[in-house]
Amino acid sequence: MRIAQDWAQPCPNPNCPYHNQFHGGNIIAQSTYETQSGRRRIFKCTHCGQLFSETRHTVFYDLRLPEETVMLVLKLCLVAVSLSGISFAVGVQEETILRWLQRAAAQAERVNAHLLQEVDVSKVQLDELWNFVARKQAETAQANGEASEESADGRHWVWLSYAPDYCLLLATVVGPRTLNNAQRLIQQTAAVVQGVPCFFSDGFSCYFTALRGCYQQVIRFPRTGKRGRPRKDRIEPHPQRVYAQLVKEKRNGRLQSLRVQVKCGAERLKQLGLTVSTSLVERLNLTLRTAIAPLVRKSPSFCKQPQRLQHRVVFFHAFYNLVRPHMSLRRPLQDDSSDAPRFHTQYEQRTPALAAGLTDHIWSFRELLTAKLPAHHSQSTSG
Ligand SMILES: [Zn+2]
Repeated sequence: MRIAQDWAQPCPNPNCPYHNQFHGGNIIAQSTYETQSGRRRIFKCTHCGQLFSETRHTVFYDLRLPEETVMLVLKLCLVAVSLSGISFAVGVQEETILRWLQRAAAQAERVNAHLLQEVDVSKVQLDELWNFVARKQAETAQANGEASEESADGRHWVWLSYAPDYCLLLATVVGPRTLNNAQRLIQQTAAVVQGVPCFFSDGFSCYFTALRGCYQQVIRFPRTGKRGRPRKDRIEPHPQRVYAQLVKEKRNGRLQSLRVQVKCGAERLKQLGLTVSTSLVERLNLTLRTAIAPLVRKSPSFCKQPQRLQHRVVFFHAFYNLVRPHMSLRRPLQDDSSDAPRFHTQYEQRTPALAAGLTDHIWSFRELLTAKLPAHHSQSTSG
């Protein structure tokens, strides 16, 4: 008996009971058509009769240019080539590139939401790197480093939370240096990790407030049945909460001293035997500055809108976790079959998502742009 092929395509018709369902056995290949990038399939949902192309709901839907050009342009966006540079070299208008970046960001967000779930991490490093959006001047920050809300169109930060266990980027936020954004970063991180990891950051005060708000427990007192007002619920800090700061003291821009300040959970931190460090997330800052053109220091190619920087950061987030093998995650291959001396050690390359067990392979760039995934009900952050 011939078994119908499972095309791993969901029905795109929102009125169909099979909408966004995978492996339902309702999708058949109907026909093919020629594009500039080769032959593509048309599928049909046998339940509702909807016809759709294999590129529907991917970055490559309804393109006028070959897929190879789109992939080249999007790759150049990840190696710090400016928008005008790409436009000149590839011959594509800047507005078109921005549109592709927006699509890539929406796709990357779906991929992140689908894969980043229940990540088992022991520690999380937090950091922010500054950047200008729209104008190259800033309101002065308050004494504790928190920005005033008016700076919303000037100085912007890229907020990062990072799991050094697997070099995995857990969450990113783009916005001014405010408590609200610190809370967004902590909440997004808490949503993708298992349990309560230890948090480490620099001396920025807003994280502690944000962590206190996110990791807490409500103590409810049972009704006693006696007369009088019942006892009110009490909010207590989560017993497993650990937060430590690495406070840098600088004079004239030079580092004078480093001091560890454990803000809560000193006992658990001691039991776990973890070292307070933010060095890896700070190294990641450098990676971002050499990958995303508007983040390159002293470059004139800053973003004109915060949303555009957001698109680039979200796209980089998925690319970094899934596509790019990380040098420090590679493992030497043991090959005992030959006694011949080997001059170069052979390595098995791994990506952060592979090391964290979130996927079983290194994703290709095309796969990142075309993967169709079950719908995930998360709040959208890219426009
Ligand atoms: Zn259908």
